[in-house]
Amino acid sequence: MILTIINQKGGVAKTTTAANLGAALTEQQANLTAKAPQSLKAPRLRFIDLDVQGSLLRYRKTIKSATFHAPRTADELRALLEKDAPAVVDCPPGLDETTRRLLLAHSDVALIPLQPAYDALIGMVRTIEAVEAAQAENPRLRFKIVLTMYRGRPNAREMRADVGDSYPENLCRTTIPFSLLFEEATALAQPITLYAPDSTAARAYSKLAKETLTWQ
Ligand code: ADP
Ligand code: MG
Repeated sequence: MILTIINQKGGVAKTTTAANLGAALTEQQANLTAKAPQSLKAPRLRFIDLDVQGSLLRYRKTIKSATFHAPRTADELRALLEKDAPAVVDCPPGLDETTRRLLLAHSDVALIPLQPAYDALIGMVRTIEAVEAAQAENPRLRFKIVLTMYRGRPNAREMRADVGDSYPENLCRTTIPFSLLFEEATALAQPITLYAPDSTAARAYSKLAKETLTWQ
């Protein structure tokens, strides 16, 4: 499954979600296949970083059972996407249209992180439009919305209810809570499941990972 983390808006937790969801997926995979012979193990998860800032690549030190890629050209990206192995793709905000089209043409799921704020909502709507346009060419493409940095304030609750009403099939059951733990975990480039395994935040990303497995 190619899982693309995308929202035209920056600062909505795209990179955080790519790293932490990907880490939780590799952990769950490792637990499932701990006793299986090497030949039966699933292919390693690939992290594909499309942001020139390379924030996702920093996690290569801590998420050792995955591989990390930073394609520099459209051909390099296409070659990665055409391989039959799971991948989590982190997009920069305001991804250029050519790359976005190429990416959505090869993705199975566009996962849209939504920070409860108006401009993130606009970014979500634009991203959904891009997904719907890409579905003509790639009918297996679906989109999912995950609320991030959620504090349960009245306006955030209202936004969650509205998004759930408008996109009942697409809103993830899992919501990622706001947590200050991400500040240090991000600074150390550690997934939250490693930095604070017993925290609500770590449990939320583990739960989201389980939820993504139901999208296969
Ligand atoms: P994007 O990739 O969409 O630009 P980032 O993943 O870099 O966004 O996140 C932006 C900032 O928000 C980072 O400083 C990150 O540590 C912080 N952040 C992300 N998720 C959470 C969360 N659930 N709670 C608190 N802070 C968060
Ligand atoms: Mg980012």
